[in-house]
Amino acid sequence: MKLLKSAYKTAKWLRVAVSVAVMAATAASLVFGFDCWLRHWQLIPALATGTGIWLLLWLGVTLLLGRIYCSTACPLGTFQDCISRLLRRRKFGFTVPYPLVRWCTFFLGTGAFVLGITTVSQALDPSAGFDRIVTAVAGPLGASLAFTAGSMLAAAATLVVVGTMSFRRGRLLCNTLCPLGTIMGALSVNSMLHMDINPDKCVGCGRCSAGCKSECIDHIAHTIDLTRCVVCFDCAAGCPTGAITFRRGRHQLQLPLLREVLPKAVPGQESQPSVVETSDASRR
Ligand code: SF4
Ligand code: SF4
Ligand code: SF4
Repeated sequence: MKLLKSAYKTAKWLRVAVSVAVMAATAASLVFGFDCWLRHWQLIPALATGTGIWLLLWLGVTLLLGRIYCSTACPLGTFQDCISRLLRRRKFGFTVPYPLVRWCTFFLGTGAFVLGITTVSQALDPSAGFDRIVTAVAGPLGASLAFTAGSMLAAAATLVVVGTMSFRRGRLLCNTLCPLGTIMGALSVNSMLHMDINPDKCVGCGRCSAGCKSECIDHIAHTIDLTRCVVCFDCAAGCPTGAITFRRGRHQLQLPLLREVLPKAVPGQESQPSVVETSDASRR
């Protein structure tokens, strides 16, 4: 159990180190104007330039391990984590998904990309979004960043939208507005390995859902919404009983409807004994 926990802690900190390094290298390449291969492995630039190797690699990784791209390789995802980690003081909690918003945005972004409507496709492209944020933050300092009043306005608007959403709801943007998040979420439902809760080991402390930036853990029903999980390992590293593991198969089907048929439990409240104690007075 101790070994398992330290393995998840190592995986978590490895993931943090890789994601921060990728974000820093991407930002530096933009500001100082050098070519960085980490920019080419991002999915939309790879799609735009037809770099099939990266597309195939990430497709394989997603089918195998879920949305690990979103917790390591996407600088915009890491930027959101930095905002919610550094500025947010409140805990997270399970929320319902917004599938209609996700799929409408997905088809809007895909249609715009295919038809060449760059204003819309660029607005929904996470790589372009991160570039705009770097422009907004480092614009006047970045020797290589060409910007106009219009592009600075777009950059500032992106910074405000991404900053506000991540401050308030963690990875909400990833699970509503990002077309890549939607398609990778759909693929992740059947990924070979995924996060899973063992109800027999869970003591219902709620630590996992309070720390989940994707707001996708329902610790009462013991379900994890795999379409929103970005495989960050935070929950597995923090679970005191080792109930959450990254594994094949499921201890319990991932059906939110189960909540309707399972007895409702109140978070933070232990089940009450069914024995009704009688006072001495009533006995008398
Ligand atoms: S969902 Fe989109 S913005 Fe979020 S981490 Fe994944 S690719 Fe990046
Ligand atoms: S942190 Fe572990 S024990 Fe606590 S509610 Fe989550 S799965 Fe259960
Ligand atoms: S379920 Fe766990 S691994 Fe997935 S996003 Fe939430 S905290 Fe991270």
